[in-house]
Amino acid sequence: MAKQLQHLVFKLMVSGLILAVILVTKTTAKGDNNNPDNSQKLFKHTSYVMGSLMDISVYAEDGKIVNNAIEKAFNEAERLDRLMSNYKNDSELSRVNRNAISKHITCDNELLYIIEESLRYSRITEGAFDITVFPLVNVWGFFRNFNGNITGNIPALKELQAILPAVSYKNILINSDKTSGEDKSTIFFKNRDTQIDLGAIGKGYAVDMVSKILQSEGITSALVNFAGNICAFGSPPGRNKWAIGIKDPTNINSIIGSFQIKDKSVSTSGDYEKFFVKDGKRYAHIIDPVTGRPVSGVLSVTILANTAMEADALSTGIFVMGQDKGFRLLKNLENVEGIMIFEDEESNIALKKSRGFTKTLELNNIDAKWRIFESD
Ligand code: AMP
Ligand code: MG
Repeated sequence: MAKQLQHLVFKLMVSGLILAVILVTKTTAKGDNNNPDNSQKLFKHTSYVMGSLMDISVYAEDGKIVNNAIEKAFNEAERLDRLMSNYKNDSELSRVNRNAISKHITCDNELLYIIEESLRYSRITEGAFDITVFPLVNVWGFFRNFNGNITGNIPALKELQAILPAVSYKNILINSDKTSGEDKSTIFFKNRDTQIDLGAIGKGYAVDMVSKILQSEGITSALVNFAGNICAFGSPPGRNKWAIGIKDPTNINSIIGSFQIKDKSVSTSGDYEKFFVKDGKRYAHIIDPVTGRPVSGVLSVTILANTAMEADALSTGIFVMGQDKGFRLLKNLENVEGIMIFEDEESNIALKKSRGFTKTLELNNIDAKWRIFESD
């Protein structure tokens, strides 16, 4: 049992750490070469929380300050897990999922804020992003077994049709009472089978909160990477920005290019994160709430935004919206840029980027099979 767990953790580490390792190698290599001030050292910490690895890389002089800040940051991530987890029976979200089906119940203000923001992203993405997908996620599976592999089932059409009425953000009713600091607001699910899953926005929110803690503890240069949800503030010594690598979804051990950020957040939703294969077809974990089926054709969406929560919600939503609708939305959003990698009609791999990436995205590891274009 202990060995199996060890194996599972190892597998998670291999899949989750690749991006961060490349990031840090890149930034340290260049940073140190150009840096006349060698007093700034790189501190790297990793913790397993919310079922994923959170990597924190900090440049600072004083290791004591860093260790204290990082301890507080990981405590914050654990606090948020106790709030938002739907694996922990005693989390606030599990309590809401159990009780909001029969009556209006009070809800912790912070959880309510995350749910209200989720509803806002549902409206922005015309229902493509929807935290009520939980019953669909459960029926498709995507469970990780003890070997670290994802398993799943293909539900019958009838089974999906029975679930779909429960899946709509419009089933969540909130009565907000913000007059006092107390948790007086209430939440109610209109459908008895409605259940919330914050898997597509919670990690982004956690990255924002962890970054705030680091800053309030005096850290001025750090990169937080939580399973592809990144916030980078300040910059490595001798450089202006942090380099962010983009994984090749067709070969996830390889990076196709990079761009630079400072005081910004990035999130990638990828079909490679969680999927199972049945009869030669790949079923990935991002589900279209309208059909109840995993989205196919889109391989990854990377969103650059001001907060990790926004980047997280929009990367999932735009993944579901697909190329045409997704880039139309991006065009209308301020301070948000995106990159989508997908299979085109001829089964070539295409990469489409929004205007903000014209000069900043450097692609240096792609071959003739790639078609690159920019949204108008
Ligand atoms: P992400 O990796 O941020 O794109 O989040 C994917 C996770 O969010 C999945 O593993 C599901 O738990 C959940 N999810 C799947 N489809 C959707 C959707 N259309 N809207 C919101 N959450 C979703
Ligand atoms: Mg997301």
